[in-house]
Amino acid sequence: MIVHLNKNITKEQAQQLAEKYQSIFFENGKLILVTPSKLKTADDELKKASDEIFVADTDIQLASKQYISTKREITIGDVTIGGNTNNTLVITGPCSVESEEQIESAAQLCIELGVKVLRAGAYKPRTSPYTFQGLGLEGLKLLDKMRSKYGLKIITEVRDSTHVDEIIEYADIIQIGAKSMYDHGILRKCGKTRKPVLLKRGFGTTLQEFVQSAEFILSGGNPNVMLCERGIRTFETKTRFTLDLCGVAWLKENTNLPIILDPSHAIGYAYGVADLARACVAMGIDGLLIESHPNPKVAKSDADQQLNFDEFRKLYASLQTVATAVGYKVV
Ligand code: PEP
Ligand code: MN
Repeated sequence: MIVHLNKNITKEQAQQLAEKYQSIFFENGKLILVTPSKLKTADDELKKASDEIFVADTDIQLASKQYISTKREITIGDVTIGGNTNNTLVITGPCSVESEEQIESAAQLCIELGVKVLRAGAYKPRTSPYTFQGLGLEGLKLLDKMRSKYGLKIITEVRDSTHVDEIIEYADIIQIGAKSMYDHGILRKCGKTRKPVLLKRGFGTTLQEFVQSAEFILSGGNPNVMLCERGIRTFETKTRFTLDLCGVAWLKENTNLPIILDPSHAIGYAYGVADLARACVAMGIDGLLIESHPNPKVAKSDADQQLNFDEFRKLYASLQTVATAVGYKVV
């Protein structure tokens, strides 16, 4: 149950309720309490303290269409996605920040095409400890330089909870990677800011588990959460992962959160990224994340899947036609 508490309750009452029910937070001047979804009716004490009560089927509560029937809106700089905007936000850039020269050429590509959000990781959650782990704070500073010089918005990932504060300071969108989707230290810290968060689906998680991770951020008081499908592990090994478009249809139908798709990490090979990206846009989505690199062959991470700039230019030029066919606009 989601309970909107009334303004007349005392601080002591609020404290008692918080102790009893675990989750209580402020949003737009409203005190909101969330009980486990198993609880379907409020007792007299709770009824008396509430203005409105919403009942959800499962612990997908704040993210559910039962609670908010329309899609939530998120504003990044001068663009808004979700709500009734029908905007598809394109995000591109390399997997990792590698050098000033490399990230500057990526920033210039964004400016050339009108892409507003530059992506790149500074803290990389690699599969092997023996490979490039990212430039860390130096990488964040380079991203910040691109933000100031070119007016781009920055999305970069948080690898563990030791540097969430740094990421919050430097990023316009905080990315929580597939391998960190269950990290409650990160989730809870991201609930304490209002910065938009892009939460990637863990490659071995169900949709229920994925959206419940988003609930940790929402119930901390941060309503600006985007869900990102980036491929799940199946029996298939010819491609890196399997992009779960059925899952995307389910998320669109059942949740109120904007949805971003990442075909680059799903397939893992550049040859299929453009076709998949168009298929993603054809679903009517809020955003698309594509890895691109000035010279993918020498990329320090995810070399196989990054598009070179000409490939990205060609893909980008084809996206609006697809978006138009489903009533969306590429922004
Ligand atoms: C990335 O975006 O570069 C990345 C590591 O993604 P994921 O967490 O989806 O593997
Ligand atoms: Mn990557």
